[in-house]
Amino acid sequence: VKERDIARQKDVLESRRPKVLYVDIETSYAVGTFWGSRMWKTDILDVIQESMPIMVGYMWEGDKKARSFCLKDFKGYKPGLFNIDDKALAERTRDLLNEADVVVGQNSQSFDVRMLMARFWHHRIPAPDGFDQEDTKIRAKKTFYLASYKLKHMAKFAGVKQKTDPGGIRAWDDVIKHGTGWENMSKYCRNDVETTRELFLSMRGYVKSKVIANLFTRKPYHCPNVTCMARDYQKAGRRATKTGWKQKFVCMVCGTRWLGALEKDDSKLNITMA
Ligand SMILES: [Zn+2]
Repeated sequence: VKERDIARQKDVLESRRPKVLYVDIETSYAVGTFWGSRMWKTDILDVIQESMPIMVGYMWEGDKKARSFCLKDFKGYKPGLFNIDDKALAERTRDLLNEADVVVGQNSQSFDVRMLMARFWHHRIPAPDGFDQEDTKIRAKKTFYLASYKLKHMAKFAGVKQKTDPGGIRAWDDVIKHGTGWENMSKYCRNDVETTRELFLSMRGYVKSKVIANLFTRKPYHCPNVTCMARDYQKAGRRATKTGWKQKFVCMVCGTRWLGALEKDDSKLNITMA
């Protein structure tokens, strides 16, 4: 009976495991007119062409490798700065985001996801149904003092292997203007996604996650980290809160720490420091 119960518990966990999507997008540069009087930011007269997504790198938690797609993969693709049409790419990205429960990326909450939302709006592509977000840069800033919060620096700091830049502006000129070097760019884009995942995993046990996996499974008996959910955890002391004592737990697999339910429903202490 016990074993069957355990198997059933495992099934529940697997069937409701939140789908975690790691993303990184590459974008075209914006084109505009400006007076050249050194006040770059305030001098912009007009945006002739907005910055647009040209490549999307992604992987699901559980995947071995990242994948990517780019403008070139869609019908009607033509190289050239003023031939960029990102509608089909945006539609496919929307379908991808729609499958995700949690979207993870480096600077993705500030940049990638907002850029994509802007493109959905522009093309009147229906918005995704909604997902939670974990941004490795925001999480890192909150917890760690670092000299830089760029992916490259954070990866080096954390000892996560990463390939170097695809070659700056020239790589962008190659793909945008001449339609060459897509494969080269995709190699680095996919590598950035894999690096972001490794960073995210390495930060477990240090940063507080926003998303709690138990909300998806509705079960208390597993680690709340969406990338872990192990049932191998231990008690780790108690925490005094305003409403009472709570049990502290630590995951033996990933190091995530969390608090359990109130041990006893003590009446709330209405005391604040003056
Ligand atoms: Zn864990």
